Amino acid sequence: MSVLVVGSVALDSIKTPKAENPRLLGGSASHAAVAASFFEPPRLVGVVGDDFPKKYLQLFRNHKIDLTGLQITNGKTFHWSGEYEVNMNNRRTLSTELGVFASFSPELPQNFRDTPFVLLANIAPALQHHVLDQMKRPKFVIADTMDLWLNTAMDELLRLLKRVNALVLNDSEARQLTKESNLIAAAEKIHKLGPKWVVIKKGEHGSILSGPGEFFLAPAFPLKKVVDPTGAGDSFVGGLIGYLASSEGPVEANIRRAVINGSVVASFCCEGFGLSGTIKANRLAIQNRIAELEKLQKF
Ligand code: AMP
Repeated sequence: MSVLVVGSVALDSIKTPKAENPRLLGGSASHAAVAASFFEPPRLVGVVGDDFPKKYLQLFRNHKIDLTGLQITNGKTFHWSGEYEVNMNNRRTLSTELGVFASFSPELPQNFRDTPFVLLANIAPALQHHVLDQMKRPKFVIADTMDLWLNTAMDELLRLLKRVNALVLNDSEARQLTKESNLIAAAEKIHKLGPKWVVIKKGEHGSILSGPGEFFLAPAFPLKKVVDPTGAGDSFVGGLIGYLASSEGPVEANIRRAVINGSVVASFCCEGFGLSGTIKANRLAIQNRIAELEKLQKF
């Protein structure tokens, strides 16, 4: 097992203009680990309360996710609720109840500490640091983040950027971090903060990958209908690191395809509430969408 994913494991209550679904399996680590599992069985590090439904643990097991690093403690599982507008690019957080997450300190089982590929999915930068402190020289570390940490933990986030190989963030976060409206200039500024690789996500408009001698405009898979985009970003980065970890050869040789695989896994995520769209995917379905994308991109 060569991928470690740390982040939130949550119950999400999601409202869209068409439907409302309470207490779905969510969280940055849940989405990312399931996405990575299509390529490489991942190790999950996180925390849940004793109210966490057994069927969700089973879903993780069905995806060959190692749960040795998932703490189950007395109390309530982290609960996030959000509401989408008709334009699903606009989302509002309705509530965040930390529950057992408030006192969470990620402790890595001994056999997790030499995992080569590490995804620091979205959690507080202090916790992301704590995970890195326990790792023995990982080969490739990717960090994800969110606007909350840009607003409340900028110093710790800047310190983290010096310790990671790649940062994945969305366009508005890149602009906020760099105070630069042009995304190409923003990517250049982020490299100067530390990460050798920068991926800026632009939702339905794809993403930009920037690295040494590398600049790639990656498409998003065009969907006619988006049911629930929650976790698409986490699925993107989970698919990306899972693909990298499962590929032979240097990261430079595989990273474009990794971004495309991440992008396609994210498209499955958007087709259902919670993880219901993602779990309909498999390697063949992912490859078929990649083949369609290749046709669409040719000129
Ligand atoms: P995304 O749609 O990719 O931005 O990710 C949404 C996921 O992030 C949801 O499943 C939430 O449970 C999770 N989430 C929301 N707020 C936080 C937070 N403050 N820390 C960690 N995870 C969060």
